[in-house]
Amino acid sequence: MSVIIQNATYWKSFEKYNQIPLDECFEVVFAGRSNAGKSSAINALTNQKKLAHVSKLPGRTRLLNFFSVGDGRFIVDLPGYGYAKVPQRVRRDWPEMIEGYLLDRETLVMVFVLVDGAIGPTPLDAQMLDWLRENEIPHTVVATKSDKVKSSKRPARKRDLAEGCQLDPGDVGWVSSTKGDGIERLRDLVRLHLAG
Ligand code: GDP
Repeated sequence: MSVIIQNATYWKSFEKYNQIPLDECFEVVFAGRSNAGKSSAINALTNQKKLAHVSKLPGRTRLLNFFSVGDGRFIVDLPGYGYAKVPQRVRRDWPEMIEGYLLDRETLVMVFVLVDGAIGPTPLDAQMLDWLRENEIPHTVVATKSDKVKSSKRPARKRDLAEGCQLDPGDVGWVSSTKGDGIERLRDLVRLHLAG
């Protein structure tokens, strides 16, 4: 089975997860607070300038957006959480549909949680991670925008961000979508999870 992330194409969007027709497939999910850098990371991974903009088109921002990267292999872009101005529980911001999808979808092999590396994790990110842990949903934290952190401050920032996520620094991936740092590594990881 060949998975070529750079060949990603938009497949379909779904409003309800039980409308997704395929059940013999593998998919990885990208989740994150709005503005965390999720679209930029998907575009960098796929080496396409506008692919993830599909998810930001009117009417698509609350949907599960599927991108095909090989036969029965998908990257799923989830709606950004955290629209509310004040921090609320993730579940109130996120439609039940998305929770249902994350809880029940057996073909989902990994949730990549993108956290803004310059400012995160926010309380919403922490709540999201708690929820994933409570529900034993496999997930990996990827910190974005590493280029925005001065190199002199990087070690401390990496420590603080990991601590805020209740992880060891070595368990958090770091990427810069604008500079390309860490993208190849993340691409390899995505490919590995989708290899089945
Ligand atoms: P999304 O809402 O999570 O999809 O976030 P976007 O990908 O649209 O990014 C939100 C903002 O952060 C935009 O202004 C991007 O240009 C900026 N951004 C995203 N990734 C990076 C990065 O790696 N470095 C820098 N400096 N800015 C970034």
